[in-house]
Amino acid sequence: MKRLAADVLIVGGGTAGTIAAIQAGRLGARTILVEAGSQLGGTTTTGGVDIPGLFHAWGRQVIAGIGWELVTRTVELNGGNLPDFKKPTGRQHWKHQVRLCGALYAALAEEACVKAGVQLRYYEFPAAVEQTGDGWTIRLDGKGTSVEVAAKQLVDCTGNASVAGMISLPRQREKTTQPGTLIYRLGGYDVRSLDLKALQAKATAAVKSGALKPTDFNKSIAGFLGGGGENAMHVPGADSSTSETHTATNIRGRQSLLRVVRFLKQEPGFATLRIERLQPETGVRETFRIVGETTVTVKDYTTGRVFDDAVAYSFYPIDLHVEHGVKPEHLKEGIVPTIPLGALIPKGCKNLMVAGRCLSSDRLANSALRVQASCMAMGQAAGVTAALAANAATTPLNVPLADIRRRLLEHSAIVPI
Ligand SMILES: Cc1cc2nc3c(=O)[nH]c(=O)nc-3n(C[C@H](O)[C@H](O)[C@H](O)COP(=O)(O)OP(=O)(O)OC[C@H]3O[C@@H](n4cnc5c(N)ncnc54)[C@H](O)[C@@H]3O)c2cc1C
Repeated sequence: MKRLAADVLIVGGGTAGTIAAIQAGRLGARTILVEAGSQLGGTTTTGGVDIPGLFHAWGRQVIAGIGWELVTRTVELNGGNLPDFKKPTGRQHWKHQVRLCGALYAALAEEACVKAGVQLRYYEFPAAVEQTGDGWTIRLDGKGTSVEVAAKQLVDCTGNASVAGMISLPRQREKTTQPGTLIYRLGGYDVRSLDLKALQAKATAAVKSGALKPTDFNKSIAGFLGGGGENAMHVPGADSSTSETHTATNIRGRQSLLRVVRFLKQEPGFATLRIERLQPETGVRETFRIVGETTVTVKDYTTGRVFDDAVAYSFYPIDLHVEHGVKPEHLKEGIVPTIPLGALIPKGCKNLMVAGRCLSSDRLANSALRVQASCMAMGQAAGVTAALAANAATTPLNVPLADIRRRLLEHSAIVPI
């Protein structure tokens, strides 16, 4: 078996993991990034949630660094525009999210990884993880490949705390998790020319007969068609934590799309209905979270607690999706929550960090912390910490906070100090 050595091995090249890898690579760490899919960006790109936010709060930028660099480069290269961040959004927080071309973001992220010296390994995943005296031995399996990596530091950016699960660390998970969404866009109809009342009655009847499910269009066909679909349907019980559950989640997402298209095709006004966009994966909002040295609670989040070991800000309403929708709870004026390093370190475990939506947090805090700008900021903090820990032959908890913050600032991140 081929043997590789790394200072930092990052599992999961999604929203957080990509940034962690670029950061570790830019600090000179020998970095390997293993991604089970075919491109970087995870939910941002493959999941189609190409609207990262929120980098700004109350008229000022609170998250910057490598995530912001890639986001702005993507917008610039594609001739797009950034929102006017000075203009308050009120309750329409999504107006400060940045619209991206996801595929371009993935290409630029890949380019940045390569430039930073990161060894990219697509189509692979850890098949065995063993803790050794001074780090980890990980077997990565893939299509026709099986390699063994000796890594000093491991960063779990799988979104599901999968590596933590593989080594039997405790994980938190709700009995009922938030629904997922298969992002797709319909076109070829004019919503203004539709008899929406009659269509709603037909959709309700189709739900009764079993031809449609209420989660296919979140009960309101007018609302659904007004936005062309996009982020509007729900897949209850969506779960990306194993290949089996993820396969089932993707199939259920696509079955929903087919139900909706077949239903609409029979209705007046949809003769030229077409699918303008269809993501290859159902986006999943919530699975496992680690039990960390620190757990961020909803009270910490909504009161804007500044943790002693804060390494980044986070900003978003509490945003818990239930089966038929979401009612965001906005933060009080001036509040900007923080992310402690301790929430990225599994309790009692050496040489392992997590970044992304599986950080240690209670469910409601997580519903806000999981958004992309926050995941990118966590990724950068984990990348710095893992690289410094590897260099000093120590564990993340023993890396001096002042060094982590200094490095983050040097790499254009914003640190709450
Ligand atoms: C439908 C939906 C709408 C959302 N809306 C918004 C929004 O409007 N604004 C916003 O900012 N955020 C939004 N979010 C939240 C946000 O997009 C995610 O929480 C965030 O992107 C998660 O980042 P992550 O890095 O934790 O995981 P991901 O980006 O999902 O990355 C995980 C990566 O790990 C890889 N992986 C997993 N397991 C393995 C393994 N064993 N081996 C190798 N690779 C592995 C995956 O392939 C993936 O690339 C939304 C999420 C969803 C699902």
